[in-house]
Amino acid sequence: MNKHQTATAGERVAADRLYWDPALETQSRAEWDAMKLDLLKKSLHHAYANAPYYRQLFDEAGLSPDDVRSFDDLRRFPTINKAVLRERQEAAPLLGDLAAVPEEEVVYVSASSGSTGVPTVSPFTAEDFEEWMDYEARQFWSSGLRPSDRYAHSLNFSLFIGGPCVLGAQKIGALSIHAGTVPSERLLSILQTFQATAMWTTPSYAWYLGETAAKHGIDPKKDLAIKRIFVAGEPGGSIPETRARIEALWGADVYDYYGLSDIFGACAGMCEAKDGLHWAEDHIHVEVIDPETGAHVAPGGRGEMVLTTLKKRARPLIRFRTGDIVSFSEETCTCGRTSMRLMGVHGRLDDMLVIRGVNIFPSDVEAIIRKDHDFTGEYRLVVERENHLDTLIVEAERIHGFNGTDAELAQRLKDHIKATTGVGAKVSILAADTLPRATHKAKRVEDRRGQVWTE
Ligand SMILES: [Zn+2]
Repeated sequence: MNKHQTATAGERVAADRLYWDPALETQSRAEWDAMKLDLLKKSLHHAYANAPYYRQLFDEAGLSPDDVRSFDDLRRFPTINKAVLRERQEAAPLLGDLAAVPEEEVVYVSASSGSTGVPTVSPFTAEDFEEWMDYEARQFWSSGLRPSDRYAHSLNFSLFIGGPCVLGAQKIGALSIHAGTVPSERLLSILQTFQATAMWTTPSYAWYLGETAAKHGIDPKKDLAIKRIFVAGEPGGSIPETRARIEALWGADVYDYYGLSDIFGACAGMCEAKDGLHWAEDHIHVEVIDPETGAHVAPGGRGEMVLTTLKKRARPLIRFRTGDIVSFSEETCTCGRTSMRLMGVHGRLDDMLVIRGVNIFPSDVEAIIRKDHDFTGEYRLVVERENHLDTLIVEAERIHGFNGTDAELAQRLKDHIKATTGVGAKVSILAADTLPRATHKAKRVEDRRGQVWTE
């Protein structure tokens, strides 16, 4: 009998069960570490033995998997990044020479087109895929999804890593509606007809959809049955002000999820306590580093997230630099789960704006705007260079029926941005419904200075 009580296909799970996998999810920090270290050693040996590029990389660094006796030892290994994945894929198409199994063992690939437009594939063996779905099920369960729910998966299914996550909802027994990305009116009709109780979209789309519903005379709180909204793909889901406004619009709870196309559709997600995102710690080891020096950052500190997969057979990732600036907590959550929690994705290195030497993330400005209810919450950031000096222009919409003057509203926002981020911005107040509404991933930043961040 397996120590962990995960459900297998066809098995019914009692809806009152608190945890999907109680032994795993509530184990002590020492048990987590022992389990992960054992998995790490096996994974490094697997990579070294079967992936030509890792063998070359480790040999060049004079390191062997046998050198790893603690997580500290892992820090001596070289890092890789998205550019390396792309390059190694081109060197040995289709799967690249970071792959550690023959193609015959691969049953699924997702593909993501990064900023360069060259899609990189993420391969899974049958075992990898099954492990992934078990994690998705665990994560959905922690967010309160149950067999009695009707779950509408409103993400893209075309090669997108988020698509198959719907199978995690099926695994726990929820009635799963493969809605996909359809026009808003069609999606609203699906939600209404099926009386779906849960859905997954991006935060900006959840907002847009709620506003669109209202414009069509549908009150999401009364005419629809959505009680839980899972969001991912943008920082908004972890910005309390943004979450609160989507929750108010829908009369539903919003749970933020974090995914990475090169690993899992969701690698972390909020439990019902909504205090950080429980990390798939049995699958992925996390390091947080200073992006400039590579130095280790202690739990709680902000830095770049570096990931090492612990179970992936098809393509292990060893010290993969994500470019995401994050912070983590290792404290036990009030829900009783002991896995480490992602406390915020503060931005991506390539989203980070440097304004006259000060770092600022669009999510910082978003949080300020959405806290102030004289704004609709829609905004756009424009960065220009005037007389050789960087200038941040913030465009924000005042609500319909705003009583004060644009000048005082602009000054208030300018003061808040200065106090919170240290950046002196120019603020431009627009009428409600002026800015283009985001459908899927929102494009809210326009940098007119040319390339400012290079790898
Ligand atoms: Zn929790």
